[in-house]
Amino acid sequence: MITISGVNKFYGIYKALTDVSIDIAAGEFFSLLGPSGCGKTTLLRSIAGFETPSSGDIRIDGQSMIGVPPNLRPTNMVFQSYAIFPHLNVEENVSYGLKRLKLGAVEERRRVGDALDQVRLGHLGKRRGHELSGGQRQRVALARALVLRPKVLLLDEPLSALDKKLREEMQSELRALQKAVGITFVLVTHDQYEALALSDRIAVMFGGRIAQLATPKELYQHPLTRMTADFLGGMNFLSGKVTEKVGDMLSVETERFGRLRLAAAACGGRPGDYVTLGIRPERLRLLWDGEHADHELQGRVTDRAYFGETTHLSVRVDGLEQPLSMIETNTYGADDLPIGASIRLAYDPEAFVALADDEADDR
Ligand code: ATP
Repeated sequence: MITISGVNKFYGIYKALTDVSIDIAAGEFFSLLGPSGCGKTTLLRSIAGFETPSSGDIRIDGQSMIGVPPNLRPTNMVFQSYAIFPHLNVEENVSYGLKRLKLGAVEERRRVGDALDQVRLGHLGKRRGHELSGGQRQRVALARALVLRPKVLLLDEPLSALDKKLREEMQSELRALQKAVGITFVLVTHDQYEALALSDRIAVMFGGRIAQLATPKELYQHPLTRMTADFLGGMNFLSGKVTEKVGDMLSVETERFGRLRLAAAACGGRPGDYVTLGIRPERLRLLWDGEHADHELQGRVTDRAYFGETTHLSVRVDGLEQPLSMIETNTYGADDLPIGASIRLAYDPEAFVALADDEADDR
């Protein structure tokens, strides 16, 4: 439904976007995820029409949007700072953008009512903007966008001003809302958990380029590059030497994890090359006395952080440059392990991924 092809954006000589191409399907919940300055807002604003690409095309429903002003595009944007009018009540705030459509009072009231019901604010229609909580204001901002019945809703960090608990509540509401209204949502966020929890697919951006575009599970389990792996949660990195490559499969010799067989994916290592390997902290497991595994290592706890349902451990293993991060659920007593404790850990040789180097940010 949205086709972004070969988009570049210069601000003077500074290149904010480099050769960005993405297809977004109708009804999809799509996220642009990346650190500050990666270009995600510039891309969203280009879809909305607040920025014009220096080259490339953006099509919605087959029609090029280049040169089409924001108010004539089938899109609507919800901003991070949801500027709602404090002196107007909720209904007035939501109906504001409808005035120019001249729908008539009855239709207007019906549309406002529908939009407020969609965001569960039907009961607060008469309350003024300045009397609302942060979460309620955010809902008003959403209703104000939905009331115009756009084909695409563009959301620029809409939840970042909310505290953690409210943000999590609004995340599940946003997901339910998108399923209920069935329109395409494009969300900009720097919060990987938000992107993972909400999206059908995610484009990870670094330095103005798309680093990887995939489903949340694919991104988390099979990141292609080291930066993507690191941005989407913790990852233990280590180096290994490629001894054999057959088709897409590599055999890699490592210092402490023995010989691993894994998909080359994007890493393209040839025999003799050193490649970066990664394993997620939760794929390492503590072994208690009497427990044994096919693949285990000896280590020493160097740090411990208690998070309630989980405990994060740093474990130093002889022969590895970096301590290994581990995440244990607090069912068996990892939360009581003293610093310095000698432990054994189990690993699954299938849980490693081979990672490519990232493209340099040459902007
Ligand atoms: P954040 O999460 O901090 O908003 P972002 O990933 O959304 O970051 P953008 O706002 O798209 O990043 O900015 C991308 C780059 O382009 C940044 O380095 C920014 O400084 C630069 N930039 C954005 N707008 C302009 C502008 N109008 N003029 C010059 N440079 C700009």
